[in-house]
Amino acid sequence: MPSAFFESVLSLVVRTSTDLPPDVRAAMKAAMGQEEPGTRAARALEIIAVNVDQAAEGEGAICQDTGMPTFEVKTPVGANQLVMKKEIRAAIAEATKRGKLRSNSVDSLTGGNTGDNLGPGTPIIHFEQWENDDEIEVKLILKGGGCENMNSQYSLPMELPHLGRADRSIEGVRKCILHAVWHAQGKGCAPGAIGVCIGGDRTSGYVHAKEQLFRTLDDVNPNETLAELEASIMGSINKLGVGTMGFGGNVSLIGCKIGALNRLPASFFVSVAYDCWAYRRLGVVLDAKTFEIKRWLYRDPTSPVVPLADQAGIKRTGREVALRTPLTEEQVRSLKVGDVVLVSGRAYTGRDAVHHHLMSHEPPVDLRGGVIYHCGPVVAKEGNGWRVTAAGPTTSIREEPYQADIIKRFGVRAVIGKGGMGGKTLAGLKEAGAVYLNAIGGAAQFYARAITKVHDVSLMEFGTPEAMWHLELQDFPAIVTMDAHGNSLHTDIEKESAAELAEIGKS
Ligand code: SF4
Repeated sequence: MPSAFFESVLSLVVRTSTDLPPDVRAAMKAAMGQEEPGTRAARALEIIAVNVDQAAEGEGAICQDTGMPTFEVKTPVGANQLVMKKEIRAAIAEATKRGKLRSNSVDSLTGGNTGDNLGPGTPIIHFEQWENDDEIEVKLILKGGGCENMNSQYSLPMELPHLGRADRSIEGVRKCILHAVWHAQGKGCAPGAIGVCIGGDRTSGYVHAKEQLFRTLDDVNPNETLAELEASIMGSINKLGVGTMGFGGNVSLIGCKIGALNRLPASFFVSVAYDCWAYRRLGVVLDAKTFEIKRWLYRDPTSPVVPLADQAGIKRTGREVALRTPLTEEQVRSLKVGDVVLVSGRAYTGRDAVHHHLMSHEPPVDLRGGVIYHCGPVVAKEGNGWRVTAAGPTTSIREEPYQADIIKRFGVRAVIGKGGMGGKTLAGLKEAGAVYLNAIGGAAQFYARAITKVHDVSLMEFGTPEAMWHLELQDFPAIVTMDAHGNSLHTDIEKESAAELAEIGKS
């Protein structure tokens, strides 16, 4: 018989994965109001909004990367934390079984996926005691890998590209924060929110930076110096022009929360925890005797969830280019950066394990004219088949060492991913006649609906997210951000935003 504590934590996990908190929704709504209709950023935000609504309506994962579950628990003195830990772990395993979390816990030595999100270090649970005998507080954040990879840590003083010297001062800290957001570009699914820690050591700095993400986006820092710094960052950062998904635009950041810890005299670290727009964090306060939920944190369950998207949905412009696989070289060479495409036909997922495998093995399918989708979907078994329940793109840059070779060797004509790729891939696209298509990171529910069938799966030994899924796409929308003529929107935005970064740094 499941305990009340298990049930309460399970509700928290499911709600956190599927329903964006009201303060984040409000910030995203404000971002939508700041982009010119019809721009790349505005279109990306429309897709994000539809995705957020679809996730809440269908209780599906907002993003297929359901992240590293990190709990902050406050208990009365004497409460049994060992039992709570056991039940939190059981709730995580159950949420994974129900498809609300993707199996995300990978053995770092063997590469094997544990399948239930449990293993050494997963989930992360921090306990603290408090002087409140009647209540237990449980807060949860689900922070995905794409944005986690965009965390940065600086050791001052140092020289920063485009910003010059960052000293051990508030001005030096400001430069580090500006640099961190610029450096992330679209790879962490901008617009993001950052938690920052000034000081501490390398370990406590990152922990405290992540803890800042438990603050609401609209709060005001009680420390006057930090409040001013937060306001200064938010007042200038959006001039960067990175924009949603790094497509360019007026909003690059929706929140900046800064804390400080004492440091050793010899060290001055600035740690930045970058979270994506899919900023999933919620909490509950439980009755310490019954373990029932007394109230929710960050959301009011009595208030109806206000839809984020315009109810007319995504409007087509008529300028979209319909593509059906297998693609020809001529078709692909006719595409230019900025074109919006609707892809139909077969596509194959491939992430880190598949790309590494293909460097020394033949592919399990014929990839000529084919599309590789950088995606680790959430997939549910249905009878003898499978159904994709969440399937947004993963960060493509990880495949940079492999992608050009794979395109050339196997005749791949298009790669779908997010955040863009580097110079080696760009040269490979030009040489072989292929394109890079940027989908909207995190829009897992939206894209799951553009996958009409799972034909098969190969390389299942790599685990569900890393296997090669054979998908049938129907009008899967994406934007050409790297074409077969040597053009890259990502390079252009990075250069333009570097110039802005230098200007903001001076002001
Ligand atoms: S929205 Fe992007 S960065 Fe965030 S968890 Fe999803 S894929 Fe990762």
